[in-house]
Amino acid sequence: MSLAILLSRSLAGFDAPLVRVETHLGVGLPAFHVVGLADAEVRESRERVRAAILSSGFAFPSGRLTVNLSPADLPKESGRFDLPIALGVLLVSGQIAAAKPEMLSTLVLAGELSLTGALVPTRGAVALGLSVARNQRGATLVLPWSNAVEASRIPALTVLGAKDLKEVVEYLNGRSELQTPIYVAASVNVPPEPCLSDVRGQLMARRALEVAASGGHSMLMTGTPGVGKSMLAKRIAGLLPAMSDTQALELAAITTYAGLDVGISLKRPMRCPHHSASAAAVIGGGARPMPGEVSLAHHGVLFLDELPEYDRKVREALREPLENGYVCIARAKGTCQFPAKFQLIATMNPCPCGWQGHPKRRCQCSEAQVLSYQARVSGPLLDRIDLYVLLNQETTHWHEQQASETSASVALRVRMAWDLQRARQGRLNADLPDSLLDQHCHLQKDAKYLLGTLMERHGLSARSIQRVRRVARTCADLEGCETLSRAHLSEAYRYRPTQAVQ
Ligand SMILES: [Zn+2]
Repeated sequence: MSLAILLSRSLAGFDAPLVRVETHLGVGLPAFHVVGLADAEVRESRERVRAAILSSGFAFPSGRLTVNLSPADLPKESGRFDLPIALGVLLVSGQIAAAKPEMLSTLVLAGELSLTGALVPTRGAVALGLSVARNQRGATLVLPWSNAVEASRIPALTVLGAKDLKEVVEYLNGRSELQTPIYVAASVNVPPEPCLSDVRGQLMARRALEVAASGGHSMLMTGTPGVGKSMLAKRIAGLLPAMSDTQALELAAITTYAGLDVGISLKRPMRCPHHSASAAAVIGGGARPMPGEVSLAHHGVLFLDELPEYDRKVREALREPLENGYVCIARAKGTCQFPAKFQLIATMNPCPCGWQGHPKRRCQCSEAQVLSYQARVSGPLLDRIDLYVLLNQETTHWHEQQASETSASVALRVRMAWDLQRARQGRLNADLPDSLLDQHCHLQKDAKYLLGTLMERHGLSARSIQRVRRVARTCADLEGCETLSRAHLSEAYRYRPTQAVQ
């Protein structure tokens, strides 16, 4: 065989497009070329492949070797092509004689080689595995052992793990079998969620948090320092129903890509990046694009404490994932995409010093300062937030207030509301497109009248009306009502932006 073709996959963001690794051995002076827009790492792979072949006890052919990674216009970083390149070299030099062509065509191979011939894990094994499972039914994925362990949690995918090059050669020659690892979830110590009963008072904000959790709505809480905004926000994760297995797998693909294996947990993630975090850290990026906090919060909550303090680039870049559920990162070599479907929960002070509206403290800010501070949260980002809540200082003392409902009992209502929405429309109310609102938000007679009044007297825009209807739909779902009443609409209307944020 003077030509060998093996299959592998590249990793462009979250996509793992198919790459054909073609190896040709011709006559001529000894040479070893890798072509096909290979970057520095792939060129280095020549040296690793040569050393690994010799260390594993095989001979390196002395003819003219050309390796083509096709298609040529795909970015192919990382050493994951070492394994298919080394096997290609051994195939064309007749050192894997027994391998059957039909077997080779169903294998997808990826793994970096060390100079000793051992297979070294690369990042993104779960994303790679998901792509094979989606696009190449019946294919078998061969990976370094620890990568194979990560990918083995994907149902309907055959994964084989190998420790070194020699094991894969023995397998292709039919002399031994490769093992399928069994994924055992690492024991993760999940700390218990803080309970809602720790928060006394703030009834309207508690209710708004329940509505946000029930419909997947994004929410912004405004109030003076110490009023309980962050305390409430941090309790939303304890109200949300668990993820499905598929969602957990998608999240695992992102976390392993970012090099954070959090084991298997169906608990929804809650990410709280600090306001000094860069746009690349929050949205994703870097020379070799990595997922950011918005992607690590996929299927969960992104909590931004003190929203106006975040970099302008961060605030502006949030619009895309809030609208589409993914982020696109553009690079000279092409764009790549990461999923980022999260629920935004944010807080802000009413003014730069924080004390505007406080009954006892005096605000030191000028009107211009307050306006410019509030203007930082405006425009496109405001349009994507469904619920606004103004938290006031409680007038009664903490110890005089009654103990409030626990997270567990609120979570039961949230769960029921989620079940209703999924059965009716297959998604949460926050994700209902305008085109489906008429179908799923039937208004009772007096509710229709109220909506008309709101539009005429208060001049609500069409976009605002749609948002009020979505939130009202969630209020109705919390009560198990099919149609929207006047009370549901007026509650939703209360969650509109106040003077503090417009
Ligand atoms: Zn102030």
